[in-house]
Formats: sequence, structure tokens, C-alpha cells
Amino acid sequence: MNLTTHSQEETADVGRRLAPSLNAGAVLLLIGDLGAGKTALVRGLAEGLGVPPEEVSSPTFTLMQEYRGGRLPLIHVDLYRLNDSREIDELGLEELGLESVLAIEWAEKLPRAIADAIEIRIAHGDGDERNISIQ
Ligand code: ADP
Ligand code: MG
Repeated sequence: MNLTTHSQEETADVGRRLAPSLNAGAVLLLIGDLGAGKTALVRGLAEGLGVPPEEVSSPTFTLMQEYRGGRLPLIHVDLYRLNDSREIDELGLEELGLESVLAIEWAEKLPRAIADAIEIRIAHGDGDERNISIQ
């Protein structure tokens, strides 16, 4: 599926609309440059899962954050600062998300593919335009 958005809110909406279709164990691989809108989409995802918005609105610089209080826990991972594939392996991401939804930014850094993951690519267009492809 291919979509075009024109604002951060519209990109968050894509996550919001995706949320109801996700089950425990769902893995979302987010791929796109800095500023593409990966975090915006995850924020919408959290809202769509019913995570209280105040949980999600604070900016985070952590590698991994878990949001509770929604239909399913959401584990949000950002691999931006990790470059060593062994460090990434040690996170044990595959075992983490079994009872949650797992959303991984900079998923192209993963040393191994995760089975049945949903791949979301976000590319910059002109200005605020973003082209989003899902799976
Ligand atoms: P990433 O996590 O991919 O680095 P962020 O979601 O943190 O990106 O930031 C995206 C930035 O781009 C925000 O500053 C946002 O306001 C801006 N932006 C402009 N247009 C869009 C759009 N269509 N979708 C998402 N973000 C957009
Ligand atoms: Mg981000």
C-alpha cells in the first residue's frame, strides 16, 4: 500500500489507522531518513492502541521505551545510535515483542530479518510531502 501525507498529523494518522489491525507480536520496521516521520507515525500508533497521549507526547532520546495503558503494550525502539550489530543482537528484540506491538525505527540496521514483520518505508517528497509504503 502506498500513501502520501502532507503533515506530521497526517503521518500520525497512518499509525492511528494501522493500530486496530495489529495483534500481540506484531513487528513494524520503520525505514526512512532523519526527519522522515518515523516517530510521528509511532506516536499515532500509540494513540491508536489507546495509550494515554501524555505518555507519548514527551520527547524521548532513549533506545527503548515501553508505553502501557492501551489495548496492547507498545515497545518503541530507535536504533539510530547503534551501529554495532552485536549490540543490536543483544537487545533480543525478537523475544521482546511477543505480547506487545514492537515498532523499530532505523530497522535497516537490524542484522537479521524478523519474520512476518510489517515494513514501513517513509521517503521525503517536496516540502512536507512524505511517501509512505507499507509492506
Ligand atoms: P524521524 O523519526 O523519521 O526522524 P520525526 O517524526 O521525528 O522523524 O520528525 C519528522 C519531522 O518532519 C517533524 O519535524 C515534522 O513536523 C516534519 N514533517 C513535515 N511534514 C511531515 C509529514 N508529512 N509527515 C511527518 N512529518 C513531517
Ligand atoms: Mg525518530
